[in-house]
Amino acid sequence: MGCCEKKPDITELFGSNVFNDKAMRERLPKDTYQALKKVLSGQTELTGDVADVVANAIKDWAIEKGASHYTHWFQPLTNITAEKHDSFINPTEDGGIIMEFSGKQLIKGEPDASSFPSGGLRATFEARGYTAWDVTSPVFLKTDAAGDVTLCIPTAFCSYTGHALDKKTPLLRSMNAVSKQALRVLKTFGNKTASTVLSTVGPEQEYFLIDRDFYLKRLDLLMTGRTLFGAASPKGQELEDQYFGAIKDRVSVFMKDLDIELWKMGILAKTKHNEVAPSQFEIAPVFSTTNIAADHNQLLMETIQKVALRHGMACLLHEKPYAGINGNGKHNNWSLSTDDGQNLLEPGKTPEANEQFLAFCAAVIKAVDTHADILRATCATSGNDHRLGANEAPPGIISIFLGDTLNAVLNSIARGEKYKAGGKEFLKLGVDTLPALPLDNSDRNRTSPFAFTGNKFEFRMVGSSASISGPNVTLNTIVAEALDELAGRLEKAKDVNTEVAAYVKEVMEKHGRVIFNGNGYTEEWPQEAEKRGLPNVKNTVDALKAYLTPKAQKLYEKYGVLTKDELHSRYEIYIEQYYKHINIEAQTAVRMAKTLYIPTALNLAAKLAKQIKNLKAAAVSTTVQEKLLDNASRLLSAIDKKTAALAAAAALAKAADDATKQATIARDEVFVALSALREDIDALEVITPADIWPVPTYAEMLFKL
Ligand code: ADP
Ligand code: MG
Repeated sequence: MGCCEKKPDITELFGSNVFNDKAMRERLPKDTYQALKKVLSGQTELTGDVADVVANAIKDWAIEKGASHYTHWFQPLTNITAEKHDSFINPTEDGGIIMEFSGKQLIKGEPDASSFPSGGLRATFEARGYTAWDVTSPVFLKTDAAGDVTLCIPTAFCSYTGHALDKKTPLLRSMNAVSKQALRVLKTFGNKTASTVLSTVGPEQEYFLIDRDFYLKRLDLLMTGRTLFGAASPKGQELEDQYFGAIKDRVSVFMKDLDIELWKMGILAKTKHNEVAPSQFEIAPVFSTTNIAADHNQLLMETIQKVALRHGMACLLHEKPYAGINGNGKHNNWSLSTDDGQNLLEPGKTPEANEQFLAFCAAVIKAVDTHADILRATCATSGNDHRLGANEAPPGIISIFLGDTLNAVLNSIARGEKYKAGGKEFLKLGVDTLPALPLDNSDRNRTSPFAFTGNKFEFRMVGSSASISGPNVTLNTIVAEALDELAGRLEKAKDVNTEVAAYVKEVMEKHGRVIFNGNGYTEEWPQEAEKRGLPNVKNTVDALKAYLTPKAQKLYEKYGVLTKDELHSRYEIYIEQYYKHINIEAQTAVRMAKTLYIPTALNLAAKLAKQIKNLKAAAVSTTVQEKLLDNASRLLSAIDKKTAALAAAAALAKAADDATKQATIARDEVFVALSALREDIDALEVITPADIWPVPTYAEMLFKL
């Protein structure tokens, strides 16, 4: 589109594919609209009559927009969204059809769920599961490049026995749990207006783009999402010329297209920029309530890949697509807001607001320290192991960054001293006003896995390809537990003010160890963390064990978020996924070695041998050629041996009789064998003529965009 052509009106475009409040008001009879609003705010349940009217209106709206099918859209425990499309058609007696969509079809679906993993929750003969509309996340239309339109109903997915088989169900449960406990705390502070507390999230999504021609030539990218091989490009990210750099035209056209697709679906795409690594980018929305943010992030990940394709590119969401340069994370900005308009992690301007803020802040500190192991587990995948605990930070240690001011304030409360800064004094909780906490980047720490950023906490461990549901289920639940205890204390206290001070003091004494304001990327930090007794969990197999502890079970059961069986099923599925991903990597690596790299090495050796023969016949020196041939032969034999070793390790893992054992062998043997093979293949790459190297190189993939 040129500069002078008419551009779409974004205010018109935004949410045009969402059955939102505007659409509801326009299309529903007044009484139905009012009844539905009550359901949406949690005051009443959806009745069959109302559902029928709503479903009919949604159907008419969807058909007008070109839809012929609907789907109950849900998030199973594998990392995708699932959809099965049903058309609206219904046969009539005269051999024709009518388009129908009932309230029942809107509210409940019964997909054959036998192919989704249940981690032992559902016997295979009990194949049915059901999906139930999450009324708090609006119905929307998905369109594809070919113009096909599908009505999507965001749903939760359960087994017939009522067990959660998805990521949405526990998220909704955890939102209720944290709301309930936060309201109790707010009441003790005299709040009479709030009726719900919503957990809010703004996830910042990092990704790479790559020209699709290169992408299609890399079996590893196609099969595993990351490059299993590839010598470092001569230039990486060391010039620091990519971060926030000017966006290339090709990328900026793509980003614009992406924004438009997202806006149509009501996704609040807001910020976009170049990230640290070459061809790496970020997109962040304006935050929303956790369940909607989770739905939107899933949609964003799907849309970003589709739109990239339209622009002749592929989008890489893997946590570590390329070795040696930055990986992809997803910063999970989390907070709690009341329906009367307060952000509970915003310090506020009055002494009373400050006191309440410090109480909530202390509760978060306590929760994160107490359940650091579970939080770490929520970010554990084979892909994210390349970031957490590997060469890249944040490390596998959970710590909290508070910033100098807040840290000093909490410490002075703990010591019963007054806090002084910039001529301002903070003497007593609930009496004095806190000095303003800096909101800008000057007080930022980019190395902390859990950082206070002025009015929210930013959890930076989450993997780029992961659903944000898991981490937020845990955040909501652990904070619910801390608030439950705090509420109990405040409800009994003679004086709230004194009790909050005592609480902050106790939290700082018992849990202050989790606060770390220094550089998390240094070598000293893991040693220091060990002294403080903070866990440093470096891989998924170890991290996932946190789901099996009595502590975790008690936590999730007490707040009605996950039963013991549900928790164990999650462990089983995640550990199995870890094994399967590593196994796919091994199979792919073996295939590439045998069909691409070994033949290339043979080709190189044959060329050199032929040259040597010809040169010798002409009595010309062959020193250089012989040295090269030597090198190539040595690498060839190492690659051959290491390929066999990798295949053997993969076979060993496969033969193990349970998923945990398989995963352990995958980590200790398969992954190690794969890394060893990579060394020789990458060494071969840098001595092989470019014209016979069989796959695109790092330099091409990263810089030819
Ligand atoms: P950065 O961390 O890159 O400086 P911002 O501070 O602008 O970026 O915010 C990052 C994300 O945090 C955005 O998605 C933003 O909407 C979100 N955010 C801001 N306030 C809140 C809040 N109260 N709750 C949850 N997320 C929030
Ligand atoms: Mg950020």
